[in-house]
Amino acid sequence: MTNAPLPAAALAELSRIADLELIEKPAELEHFSRDAYDYSPVLRLELQACRADLVVRPLSLEAVSVVAGVCCRYHIPLTLRGAGTGNYGQCVPLRGGVVMLMGALNQVLNIDPATGVVDVQSGCLLRDLDQQLARSGRQLRLLPSTWRTASVGGFLAGGSGGIGSVRWGFLRDPGHLLGMDVVTVEDPPRTLRLQASEAEALNHAYGTNGIITSLKLATAPAIAWQEVCIDCQTWGDAVGLLIRCAAAAVDLHLCTLLESPIVERLPKWCGSSEGQHRLLLLVAADGVSTLERLAEQAGATFRFVGPENLSSGKGLRELTWNHTTLHMRAMDPAWTYLQMLLPKPELTAMETLKQAWGDDLLWHLEVVSQQGVMRLAALPLVRWRDPESLQRLMAECRQLGAVIFNPHVITVEGGGLGVVDGDQVAAKGRHDPSGLLNPGKLAGWSES
Ligand SMILES: Cc1cc2nc3c(=O)[nH]c(=O)nc-3n(C[C@H](O)[C@H](O)[C@H](O)COP(=O)(O)OP(=O)(O)OC[C@H]3O[C@@H](n4cnc5c(N)ncnc54)[C@H](O)[C@@H]3O)c2cc1C
Repeated sequence: MTNAPLPAAALAELSRIADLELIEKPAELEHFSRDAYDYSPVLRLELQACRADLVVRPLSLEAVSVVAGVCCRYHIPLTLRGAGTGNYGQCVPLRGGVVMLMGALNQVLNIDPATGVVDVQSGCLLRDLDQQLARSGRQLRLLPSTWRTASVGGFLAGGSGGIGSVRWGFLRDPGHLLGMDVVTVEDPPRTLRLQASEAEALNHAYGTNGIITSLKLATAPAIAWQEVCIDCQTWGDAVGLLIRCAAAAVDLHLCTLLESPIVERLPKWCGSSEGQHRLLLLVAADGVSTLERLAEQAGATFRFVGPENLSSGKGLRELTWNHTTLHMRAMDPAWTYLQMLLPKPELTAMETLKQAWGDDLLWHLEVVSQQGVMRLAALPLVRWRDPESLQRLMAECRQLGAVIFNPHVITVEGGGLGVVDGDQVAAKGRHDPSGLLNPGKLAGWSES
C-alpha cells in the first residue's frame, strides 16, 4: 500500500504548532502504525503494510484542534491512538496520513464526591484513573485486562467490556458513558460538549466520528476484591458451578472458566491445575464463604488466594479476558481466538463444537451481564490452520445460535453485530464531514 506523501505546506504548518511533538523516524512510524492485531493471522496479512506518514503528539487541547484543522485543510487521513493495545487494528492507519497520540492529555479533571462521576481526559491510563478513584473510595466499573497499559479514551472508542462485565455488562449499555468533549475535523474545528445521548454514537466507533478529548463516566463504590480459584474434574460440573456462582447473592467482579489444557499452559502464579478445569473469581469479602460452600456442594476444590494485590501484575485478572489469549500465544503463537455469546443450552453447543474440532478449540468462558441477563461469553482459543477453517468454525458456531463478535475483521460493524449503526454514521457526518478520521473502519460511512 503506497500512501500519498504529506503536502509540504501541511508539514510546515504542523511543525509550527506549539505543544506538538512531531515523530518522523521510520522505526517509530512503524511502531505507532501497529496495535495488537497480530492475534489474528488474517489481520496480520491485511495490515502489515499500513504505515503512517507522520506521528504527532499534542501536549495541549489547542494543539489537538490545530492538527484537526490542518488535516481537514489538506485532506489528510487522521487516526487517533491511545495506547495501541486494540486487537482489531483499530488504530492502524489504513490510508497512511497522520497518527495522533492522545496519551499526553491524561488528567483526571474531577471526581464528584457525591455521585462518584468522573471527568477525565481521554489519554489517561485506566490504571492511573483507577488509582485516583480509589483515593475517593470509588473504582472503575469496567476494565479491559489491559487496564495497566490502555487509555480510557481507547477503551471507550475501541473496547467493549471485560473485568466487571459480570455485574456491569458492556460499555455501550446505557449508564456508563454520561458525556464527552469532542473536537471535530473541520476547518476551523469545533469543540463540542456532548450529553450522554449524543455521546453514545462515539462509543465503540474506533475514533471514526470525533476526537474525544475528555469523558464523563459513572463509577462504582470501591470494593477490596478477593481472589478465589475453584478446580473441577469435568467440564459439565465446571460450567454448572460457574453459573451457580454467578447467580449467587454475592458481589462478583470477575467470573471466568478455563478448560484444563489452558490452565496447564498459563503462568503458574495461580497454582498448578493437575488436569482440572479452573474457575477464577474476584468476589467481595463477604461472598468468599458462599463460593466455598457452592464449591463443596459440587465436589470441587476451593482455594482462597487472598485479597487482590494490584501492584504485582500477577493477579487473577491478568489471566482472564484476552490476557488468556496473550499467555497462550506466548507459549505458542499458532493460537488465535474467537469471541462469542454462547447459545443456550451452552453445554450442548460447546460439546457439539468440541466433538467436531477436538483440541483445536479450547474453551475459555466469561460470565457477563447482557442487557441485565446473565450470559456466557466465550473467547475460545483456536488453533490456526487456514482462513477457510476459521470461516467454517464461525459458520458452525452461528448455526448453533452463537453470536460471533469477529476479531478477524477491521470494521466497527464487522467486529460487532454486522449491522450499520445510523447514529454512528450521522455523527461522522457532523464531526468529520470529509471522512478523514480513521478512514476505512466505519463501513456504514464507506458505503454511503
Ligand atoms: C492482551 C489483551 C487483552 C485485552 N483485553 C480486553 C478486554 O478485556 N476488554 C476489551 O474491551 N478489550 C480488550 N483488549 C483490547 C484493548 O486492549 C482495549 O480495548 C483497550 O482499552 C484499548 O485501549 P487503548 O488505549 O490501547 O486504545 P487504542 O488501541 O489506542 O485505540 C482503540 C481505538 O480507539 C480509538 N481512539 C483512541 N483514542 C481516541 C480518542 N481520544 N478519541 C477517539 N478515538 C480514540 C483509536 O483510533 C482506535 O480505533 C485487549 C487487548 C489485548 C492485547
